[in-house]
Amino acid sequence: MMTMTETLARPVKPNPLAVAQQQFNLAADYLHLDDGTRALLGDCVRELTVRFPVRMDDGKVHAFTGYRVQHSLLRGPSKGGIRYHPDVTLDEVKALAMWMTWKCAVVGIPFGGAKGGVICDPRDLSLNEIEHITRRYTSEISILIGPQKDIPAPDVNTNAQVMAWLMDTYSMQAGYSVPPVVTGKPLSIGGSEGRNEATGRGVMLVTLEALRHLDIAPAGSTAVVQGYGNVGSNAARSLAEQGCSVVAIGDQYGAVHNPMGINLAALDAHVRESRTVVGFPDADPISQDELLTTPCTVLVPAALENQLTVLNAPHVKARLVVEGANGPTTPEADRILYDRGILVIPDILANAGGVTVSYFEWVQGLQSFLWRESEVNERLRDIMVRSFGEVLQVAESRGVSMRVAAYILAVDKVVQALEVRGIYP
Ligand code: NAD
Repeated sequence: MMTMTETLARPVKPNPLAVAQQQFNLAADYLHLDDGTRALLGDCVRELTVRFPVRMDDGKVHAFTGYRVQHSLLRGPSKGGIRYHPDVTLDEVKALAMWMTWKCAVVGIPFGGAKGGVICDPRDLSLNEIEHITRRYTSEISILIGPQKDIPAPDVNTNAQVMAWLMDTYSMQAGYSVPPVVTGKPLSIGGSEGRNEATGRGVMLVTLEALRHLDIAPAGSTAVVQGYGNVGSNAARSLAEQGCSVVAIGDQYGAVHNPMGINLAALDAHVRESRTVVGFPDADPISQDELLTTPCTVLVPAALENQLTVLNAPHVKARLVVEGANGPTTPEADRILYDRGILVIPDILANAGGVTVSYFEWVQGLQSFLWRESEVNERLRDIMVRSFGEVLQVAESRGVSMRVAAYILAVDKVVQALEVRGIYP
């Protein structure tokens, strides 16, 4: 049983949905939204929970739980990734769906927000089991998804192969190939050049803009990256290409530090072999807590929610935090960082490169016309640089943080769509 102190203690890691709603409500206050609009946009329009059986490699049947949630369809079809993780909850998926709506609005792409997830631990599953989970989950959520309705993409622990199984399953049910039902696919079935690297590349692009704003040269700057999956590894590589020295990197197993800069090609070879950054010989082991307070110019949390908290935010030694992950900073930590003068580039701007190139992939799929990688990267750069400038302009003119500014911009665009569409019937 909990003691009174435990009951009264404030949770260090808040519910992501409560965080998402708190962030929305702040923007709603600035925009003087009425109660009805707040109630509508402060929650999700559709939530599907599915429970489905999968026959595992040992012949036993296991029941899995999955979700697909749509937060808003006001600006277009909904868009959002699919996460496989043991800690997936409906509230987490709802928060992630809500963040997708604002993210698409911030960068001005014509999508609403959605998200999906399955409660499972891919570390305990064979490739065959992951394929069967993916195919049955796709079948279960096929009442919601579709190329003009709701378009999934990769997220934590899902990748291009999982998207290929999703696309194939949906296509088998339709009776013909439907590449634009999903983005982040392999190139061989209509994926886009540059999609795999897009989120990390977008993180780099906004980091360059933020450094320019702070009058710091990228060459000679240092970065610390938490998470070495799709977002973290591509962010680290792109930043290094710009002359920024990546001095510490961590993943779910631990972290490593080399103040002289980590050789990323050597680290990649090590991770391919051992599936973790831990044990990398050319760096010193550090704890996951130490990682986030390692001195650096830019800190890139690119793992999960609630990593920067009231406990470690006072000790962050970065000039800039660029949120590669969704929801990595708790509201209390956000306030501490703001008060300490540490510039935070919020997730709905910083990691929007992924959904932006997903949009390019979707457009290419609908047109059956493929773009060159240079074309994709150039268009991505235009959107990220323009969006950063727009958010900065609101932040400076209203005297608010980049997060509040991004929310004001995003929520306002969604409200405009609501107003012009009107209320049916
Ligand atoms: P991924 O599965 O490719 O990688 C996740 C990484 O985080 C792994 O290195 C893992 O070891 C690490 N990690 C997990 N738990 C951790 C912990 N407790 N401490 C430290 N490290 C931990 O996932 P991803 O696609 O790179 O996604 C990472 C984040 O970026 C998520 O918040 C996701 O929602 C967000 N995001 C992803 C994309 C995308 O295109 N993939 C786009 C936008 C935002």
